[in-house]
Amino acid sequence: AKELGGNQVQYFSPHIYAKIERRMTLEKHLRKALEKNEFILMYQPQVNVIENKIVGFESLIRWDSPQLGRVSPLEFIPIAEDTGLIYPIGKWVIEEACAQNKHWQRLGLPKVSMAVNLSSKQFYDRSLCEQISNILQDTGLEPQYLELEITESMTMDVQVALATLNSFKNMGLQIAMDDFGTGYSSLSYLKEFPIHHLKIDQSFVKDISVNPTHAAIVNTIITLARNLKINVIAEGVENEEDLRLLQDFHCDTVQGYLFGRPVEADQVPEIFARFGKA
Ligand code: C2E
Ligand code: CA
Ligand code: CA
Ligand code: CA
Repeated sequence: AKELGGNQVQYFSPHIYAKIERRMTLEKHLRKALEKNEFILMYQPQVNVIENKIVGFESLIRWDSPQLGRVSPLEFIPIAEDTGLIYPIGKWVIEEACAQNKHWQRLGLPKVSMAVNLSSKQFYDRSLCEQISNILQDTGLEPQYLELEITESMTMDVQVALATLNSFKNMGLQIAMDDFGTGYSSLSYLKEFPIHHLKIDQSFVKDISVNPTHAAIVNTIITLARNLKINVIAEGVENEEDLRLLQDFHCDTVQGYLFGRPVEADQVPEIFARFGKA
């Protein structure tokens, strides 16, 4: 407890103090992480279960800090957003993901899409479209092989979101709505936004074979998406029971530990080999 004078006393619990200290340490090292090449991307396959083939990969950032060890994006992305570091980090992710996808194509691997997560700060950055277009030009990747994952919370400003999404669409990019079901989306926007893919959040998918409520929600989302001609991707598929139910619901595209954890780039050719050629 710290005396503030009079009889006012302010308490800092050791727990709060530790959190503040952790945050300051992360921020300090995060500022140098990009120039020190401490980020890597890992890639998780997205699989069409009808044809048993890979249709895409999602790129997922990792921070390997010599001082802190591996830090989860769930911990450092919010700090990157608060500090503005998300702009250079986010740009690096798009560059790296596009260059990697083009590299796999040059190796003769089947052409698949590369999904990149956008933070809302990036999404509302006016220079984003031009930045992406430059990256596509520099890497030589055709736009249909880049997929941008946005979340429902990003589309709160409907007019601005719609304008940006239409620019993406006109550029020939793919658009995926991530974590669907967890945000505040008005379902009616779904038919106005030019969305190609809808990713059902893993919190609903995870236990559908034992949780009838979640099963009903997932089934409804799949039906809704089908009526709107939007492709559904179920995330977080970990076991055969959940997969079987998803197939009963006519969900064709899945992502999850059952089909593969995120791997480093050099392991991707083996993953293609495991699924056979597209
Ligand atoms: P997300 O976009 O929803 O990504 C899916 C997360 O679920 C990933 O966690 C992935 O490793 C994990 N996952 C995939 N399949 C399974 C499964 O079967 N079971 C379980 N339990 N988990 C599974 P990760 O890589 O730790 O990423 C966490 C979040 O960090 C991402 O959630 C995304 O919001 C954010 N993130 C990751 N990479 C980036 C990035 O490059 N940029 C931005 N802005 N955010 C990123
Ligand atoms: Ca995602
Ligand atoms: Ca997700
Ligand atoms: Ca998420």
